[in-house]
Amino acid sequence: ALIITDECINCDVCEPECPNKAIYMGQEIYEINPDLCTECVGHYGEPQCQIVCPVECIPHDPSHVESPEQLEVKYQALKASG
Ligand code: SF4
Ligand code: SF4
Repeated sequence: ALIITDECINCDVCEPECPNKAIYMGQEIYEINPDLCTECVGHYGEPQCQIVCPVECIPHDPSHVESPEQLEVKYQALKASG
């Protein structure tokens, strides 16, 4: 999964781009639910939030490192659960 750092300026552009609805407004800044973020696997070739973020504050989350295979499994599970 990816993570939004405290450099986020709450510009709102990433939230609607997420195909998994993993991005939400947290207490102070936007946050990513790691259970829903497939790093856009299954939808796009690149993480859409990273592409649109104007301050590049969405790196990989070191506490949620996943292989392409694991991300594909997560995508399939999310798809099956609707
Ligand atoms: Fe959503 Fe893709 Fe960003 Fe993950 S990488 S939060 S799935 S837009
Ligand atoms: Fe924050 Fe970047 Fe999302 Fe804008 S695009 S709300 S700066 S994480």
